[in-house]
Amino acid sequence: MPFRTRTDLPCPRCGVPLVRYADRDKWRCKRCVGVLLGPAELAVEAPWLLEEAARASTSAQPPCPACAQPMTTIGFENIELDRCDADKVVWFDAAELGLVVEIAHSEADREAELSQLEQQKPLALIQRILADDETP
Ligand SMILES: [Zn+2]
Ligand SMILES: [Zn+2]
Repeated sequence: MPFRTRTDLPCPRCGVPLVRYADRDKWRCKRCVGVLLGPAELAVEAPWLLEEAARASTSAQPPCPACAQPMTTIGFENIELDRCDADKVVWFDAAELGLVVEIAHSEADREAELSQLEQQKPLALIQRILADDETP
């Protein structure tokens, strides 16, 4: 069954069922506050994460909520995110989201000087992920 139609996706970190955003390719864990983005959501919010090259990681990769295989570590700025290459989902740990926010803020400061559209990627992404907190 395609993972999008499943209602029992477990959090890769703590195992509790993820809560889906209504009609979105997006899930949140109520316990650890991590966020899972599916391919439709990524295509809109962060298409570069679908193409980001995998990198080696020293930390244990959590299992994909959909297929239970270990996810692949990918780089986003200087932090690591977890992606399932089969299902095209990307998991954001709450801690990783916090780090990305910090990066986004420092990027925002640099943006003021550089005025480069490219620099707005992390900030814009996290603003969209965190601001849209509606639940089904
Ligand atoms: Zn969790
Ligand atoms: Zn998977």
